[in-house]
Amino acid sequence: MSKLEEYGLDNSNLSHYLLDKSRVKDNLSVIEDILNEESKYLNQLQVMKNNNKLNFGGKLSSEELNEVFPKICSDVDALLKIDDSNLPEFGYPSTFKPNKRNAIMLSIYTLTGMSILSHLPIISGHPLDSYHFCTMIAGITGLVGAAFMQSTLTGSSGYFQSPPEIQLKKDSRVNLISVAAHEYTHHIQARKDFLYGSGRIFNEGHARTIQKEISKIYAQREDNEAFMYRITDMSVGEFKSTYLWMCKKHKLSPNQNLLKTKSSRDGDEKSERLLTRAPSPHAIGNTIFSIGQAREGKEIYSRVLNGNFKFVC
Ligand SMILES: [Zn+2]
Repeated sequence: MSKLEEYGLDNSNLSHYLLDKSRVKDNLSVIEDILNEESKYLNQLQVMKNNNKLNFGGKLSSEELNEVFPKICSDVDALLKIDDSNLPEFGYPSTFKPNKRNAIMLSIYTLTGMSILSHLPIISGHPLDSYHFCTMIAGITGLVGAAFMQSTLTGSSGYFQSPPEIQLKKDSRVNLISVAAHEYTHHIQARKDFLYGSGRIFNEGHARTIQKEISKIYAQREDNEAFMYRITDMSVGEFKSTYLWMCKKHKLSPNQNLLKTKSSRDGDEKSERLLTRAPSPHAIGNTIFSIGQAREGKEIYSRVLNGNFKFVC
């Protein structure tokens, strides 16, 4: 299976919607308009950030998160026209929380630890010959790998479907609200049976769109443009990545002026295109939903869930 099939782009409506020969020039011109607007806005936000004019707020305590999170979910419910709210478990990552992931990690630690100990000459009674030495090194490598995996899992935000749980990385209040909206959208997608059947590109594009709308709502509600910083920064990097990839695919020259604004996503997107020969599913999804919104109006995020909008051409 190619990377794009895995992401849900090949042989699907999304693929035609974005890449069909008959519409690619039109799509590129929509992307250029969006990229132009978003880059100008990001430049303004970057100046404000550099002059300490954006207030991202401090990190929330667990008690504060307990108060804020249900409110974010009801804001997302309102956007998506969901009237049977159902909150998943949520919280900051904790190594000691009794759940399936921590139980797996604990088993890996225990097994590799026992394997290392059982090969120590003082315990096994065997001399440390090459066989025992190699097995011990394999155990240590497993232990380091498990520790790396755990630090990655506990250092990031994400949605886990079974049982439904949202893990949120400790971050400034402003950034946490925007990420929480993204992860909670995955929960709604799972409840509506959209999480796997539609492919990662659909899911991540839809979640990015809601993340953007919630950021706009909070920026207005609290009169604080800091809410727009991260989502605009990510979007500029993701739009540039999809734009470059599409131009290359169709042997067209990209407008270099549209690639000048730097984004913190540039490095990750470049590696993704090098490794998989495609932008990230977040980038392609964000671009497809933004083109859809430019053409059909912003409410496609709730219409797709209710079956009133499909990406077909
Ligand atoms: Zn996501």
